Amino acid sequence: MALMTSEQYIESLAEMKRNIWFQGKKIEDPINHPLFIPSRKCLEETYDMALMPEHEDLMTAISQLTGHKINRFNHIHQSKEDLNKKVKLQRLMGQRTGSCFQRCVIMDMANAFYATTYEIDQKYGTDYFQRFKQFIIRCQDKDLIVGGALTDPKGDRSATIGGGEQDMDLYLHVVERRPDGVVVNGAKVHLTGITNAHEVVVLPTQAMRPGQEDYAIAFYIPLDAPGITMIVGRQSCDTRKLENLCDIDVGNAKYGGIEALTIFDHVFVPNENIFLNGEVDFAGMLVERFSGYHRNSYGGCKSGVGDVVIGAASLISQYNGIEKASHVKDKLVEMTQLNEQLYCAGIASSAEGWQTQAGNYMVDLLLANVCKLNVTRYPYEIIRLMEDIAGGIMVTAPSEADLRSPEVGKYVEKYLVGQGVNAENRLRVLRLCENLAMGSAAVGYRTESMHGAGSPQAQKVMITRQGGYERKKELAKQLAGIKKGG
Ligand code: SF4
Ligand code: FE
Repeated sequence: MALMTSEQYIESLAEMKRNIWFQGKKIEDPINHPLFIPSRKCLEETYDMALMPEHEDLMTAISQLTGHKINRFNHIHQSKEDLNKKVKLQRLMGQRTGSCFQRCVIMDMANAFYATTYEIDQKYGTDYFQRFKQFIIRCQDKDLIVGGALTDPKGDRSATIGGGEQDMDLYLHVVERRPDGVVVNGAKVHLTGITNAHEVVVLPTQAMRPGQEDYAIAFYIPLDAPGITMIVGRQSCDTRKLENLCDIDVGNAKYGGIEALTIFDHVFVPNENIFLNGEVDFAGMLVERFSGYHRNSYGGCKSGVGDVVIGAASLISQYNGIEKASHVKDKLVEMTQLNEQLYCAGIASSAEGWQTQAGNYMVDLLLANVCKLNVTRYPYEIIRLMEDIAGGIMVTAPSEADLRSPEVGKYVEKYLVGQGVNAENRLRVLRLCENLAMGSAAVGYRTESMHGAGSPQAQKVMITRQGGYERKKELAKQLAGIKKGG
């Protein structure tokens, strides 16, 4: 079975006994908990759409490892065209869900591991590449969702990793070495979609130095392994999903994202699950490659959600009767220009991709970092323009319960109407605007645009490294007539 149905996916999750917490309580039935359903629905879409003939080209691929048809989210890119399709797939999914749809991390990590484990083996004679191939073939053939765990809690960022100035567990590390594997202790933060994944791949949070071998550890582990605890993060407006009349008030009742602080409390990792174990000189390469792929991804997913934001702004301008005003048209053009610039950089970084020693394709790192740095800015401006067009009623409108009330509903219906639209539909689009700007989708569209795949400073470091300033100085010298050595 290389492609699961969404029903089979739900059954496979239900077989797992996972340790998930929210608001101080263990969630015994995460499959049917209303807070978790919108996140799971996004993942279900990745299965359903893969079985739709009209989306087959983007949603599926042929595995070069097995020849089987697989979900593209588990694919190892074989060409620039594959890199291109990845961004197009992400835009499509962003448009469809209006949310972070949470399955891209494994696609980006798998390609980073595929390229890097090959190079580690070349240098050290290890067998990580074979292990990784076995792992990804199983993920492809069972159509698994695998989360990714990169960011350590870190605590005091000025403290040295493993230096003893603070609790050593603030960076995940090996605490015991056994003949058959290692025991790790620590935690990872912001794990996207982790409550709906089968397994997780863990990698070091950053480049490591000699002496930090215990922190240079990468592996996969099923999410029901002993010692793993997921504590789901709060999102603004999250408990609206638990209310009785929440269809309108949630804004996007169908889809949403989830992140969790994930604890690894003395988790045993067998040798065959390990893809990096003390090779400190490769930790930075793994992180840099994963980040590069994920920064390219944002050119797709964020422009897809941006399409929903532009659509919501355009619709509310129609409902508000201001669609023909020149300043509204101008704002919609500006939103579109900014949104398409995000997509341009995503597609460009795919088009300029290159083949790694292992044979898969890597995105252009300079363009991918420029793409993500733009993502840290443009969605904020796009949302600002949407709020401008929507008007203050976006945050002061009465609730769905008031609309349905036998006593005051008639007032809501009377005073919330718009041009050619009843109060209910006007409220629906206003709540969608609110959701995108400051509700649960804002986690994926705004703050994730800032910090997901690395904060802006991380992109600036990479742009500095990739900027080619010495080569550009030579160009300037040549035109200015400055001789060699000048
Ligand atoms: Fe995918 Fe974008 Fe969410 Fe990352 S932020 S998992 S690229 S949808
Ligand atoms: Fe992300």
